Amino acid sequence: MPFRRYPEIVWQCIGLFVLTGGLSLYSISLARATHTPTSLWLVDGVMVGVLTRRPLVQARSLLLAGFLGFVVAKQILGDPFLSSLLLGMVNMLEALMVSVAIRSRFPRITSSTRFLEVARVGLISALIACGLCTFGTALVLHFWPMREFLYSFNTLFRSHFLGMVIAGSTSLIVVTRDWRLSEPGGRPWRLIRDLLLLAVITVAVFSAKRFPLLFMVYPPLLLLVFRHRFAGLVIGMAIIALITTGATMLDVGPFNMVAGATADLRVMMAQVFIGVSCLVALPVVLALAEQDRLQARARDSELRYRMLADNSGDLVMRIQSNGDRQYVSPSVKELLGWEVEDFMVPRPDLIHPDDRERIADVVRSLRTHGGTVTATYRLQHKDGHYLWIEAFARLVASPDSDGSMDIIYTGRDVTQRVLAEQALVESQNHLRTIADNVPAVIARFDMSERYTYVNRFVEQVSGEIPAQMVGRTMKEVRGELIYERLKPYLKRAYAGESVMFEYEASYRGRLLQFQAHYVPDRDAEGRIRGLYALTTEITHIKNVERELLRLAHQDSLTGLSNRRYFNERVSSVLRQAAQLDKPVLLALVDIDNFKSINDSYGHATGDLVLAEVGQCLQRMVREGEVVARIGGDEFVVLCDNIIDENSAKAFVHSLWERLHMAVAVGAGNVEVRMSIGAVICKGNVSDDVLMKLADEALYMAKAAGRDTYQLLIRTLQGSESVERSVLQPGRVES
Ligand code: GH3
Ligand code: MG
Repeated sequence: MPFRRYPEIVWQCIGLFVLTGGLSLYSISLARATHTPTSLWLVDGVMVGVLTRRPLVQARSLLLAGFLGFVVAKQILGDPFLSSLLLGMVNMLEALMVSVAIRSRFPRITSSTRFLEVARVGLISALIACGLCTFGTALVLHFWPMREFLYSFNTLFRSHFLGMVIAGSTSLIVVTRDWRLSEPGGRPWRLIRDLLLLAVITVAVFSAKRFPLLFMVYPPLLLLVFRHRFAGLVIGMAIIALITTGATMLDVGPFNMVAGATADLRVMMAQVFIGVSCLVALPVVLALAEQDRLQARARDSELRYRMLADNSGDLVMRIQSNGDRQYVSPSVKELLGWEVEDFMVPRPDLIHPDDRERIADVVRSLRTHGGTVTATYRLQHKDGHYLWIEAFARLVASPDSDGSMDIIYTGRDVTQRVLAEQALVESQNHLRTIADNVPAVIARFDMSERYTYVNRFVEQVSGEIPAQMVGRTMKEVRGELIYERLKPYLKRAYAGESVMFEYEASYRGRLLQFQAHYVPDRDAEGRIRGLYALTTEITHIKNVERELLRLAHQDSLTGLSNRRYFNERVSSVLRQAAQLDKPVLLALVDIDNFKSINDSYGHATGDLVLAEVGQCLQRMVREGEVVARIGGDEFVVLCDNIIDENSAKAFVHSLWERLHMAVAVGAGNVEVRMSIGAVICKGNVSDDVLMKLADEALYMAKAAGRDTYQLLIRTLQGSESVERSVLQPGRVES
């Protein structure tokens, strides 16, 4: 807010005007009164301090105030106006150059700034600026009031440089600390007391008339530096400089004891003394400042870390080499229920007995080899129960700098995690036990078809060891032949489909049947990252299935197919024949008077007869023919390899003929005779129609007196009409 800042800058400018004017008046008038050159030019140094620390927008006003102060002083002393103006400008330029150099490198000077660096930049820029500006001043003075150039340059340069170093650093410190000169927390009166001591001793040294006791100044100066750092140095140096230059110019003090020394020489000796005093104290203060800065930083970081440790939910400890704790974070109370005091000494008793030895080894190893360790172990809560703690420990040099090593320990409660992990391991073990004992091969493959897991059951199937299969590809393990058979299913599963299929494979000389189920393994995002394969050996199931099928389709008495099988086959044979335009022959064979065989010889003999007939028919069956027992004493023969009517007649005849048999029963024989009703037809015909026609033919054969056969030849006339054309009786005399 410019309105509020306005009075402040005005006051500052007035103050600066008075200060520069006063200092100029003092330096110049003292030099003139004593007819000596100016030994200490403080004005430019004061300007540097002010310009370096005040906001840039104020620089113009401050420069103007300093300039006016100087010009007014010169006017009071009655110097030429033009010369005063020129000299004022040269002085302000000198101050501006140094302050710009410092500002550009250190935009913000705070207590943490590296003062060694500031001093280096300040000294170099002061040397250059003082050199250039005193050159200009000497030039002006050469013409107004015509002083010798080299003499002026020589004396002015020394007084400017010395003044710049002393006043520049003093004002910089003063402005940086906002006029609070004593150390933060220090008492101002102690600074005043120490300054007074220096002033008194310096005055005493410069009042001495017989002995040059200059060295007496250093102890109070160094005391000031030790106690008050920069403030002590700069204000102390200012006091020494003022007293030294004042006394020397007034012809008193140690330098006036030098016999035959000119005023110039005395001033120069005074300047050298001030410079040397500064050089003695400056490195000390810089070193102290650096140390302060580092200590402050260390304190600060320790404070920060302590704050972190104090407020951390983890247990943080610093453990000395003897096991005692230098620090225990308050979180120990929340975590383990113990007070900090309970934990300040080693507590091996709180470590779970099963973990004690292991943890002791870990600590020993850390102490021996250094570095860091991580350990998970159980610590007892004050309530008695144990918590799982994950501890991270690092061996570090003790901050006490006594060469000992401390352990920085951080422990965190991981009970929930450990319990979850234990539950996971347990369930994994359960799963593994189940998987290993499931009578199926369970495997997992990665995307390159390599086994990543196989259960133990594989040993029973193929004799392979699971551990030797993991890492190898399916092709390597199962061989090219089986792999090629499985490849299409693998492909489908890797594409995201869940596939189930059956296949055969030979292992150890046995042909085995397998049912496999391939399921893609997806990650959390649904991307396929492998597949699971569940393979069950189903050889025995397949055998049972086949047996069941066989039993379902077989007549147990004769071993022939039964009616069910015949019904299943007849329609497909008819369809195939129709497609190929082939004739189909169906013959119904019925034993004549079978009931009387049963009655005469018994049911068992009847069965025997049926079996014999069955075997006879079985022997007669050729490729493409179906023979079945479809009723008590009724059999059927279905052929699709009869090419014409004549072949049909020959076939039926031969059938009828060969079925004449005598079945041995006890001492005698049972003569068995058959009646056959057959039909041959071509083209589309249903199984029902065919059966009905064969039945009619059988009926006719029976009606014709039995032991004969009837063949119906069915042909198509036109497109639809069906006609029974030939009835072929055939009785064979025995
Ligand atoms: P037809 O010449 O007219 O055929 O006279 P048939 O005595 O053979 O009469 P039919 O074919 O009608 O009689 C079949 C008989 O077969 C009736 C039944 O007692 C007998 N039978 C049926 N199944 C069995 C069987 O499994 N075993 C025995 N032993 N007899 C059976
Ligand atoms: Mg019969």
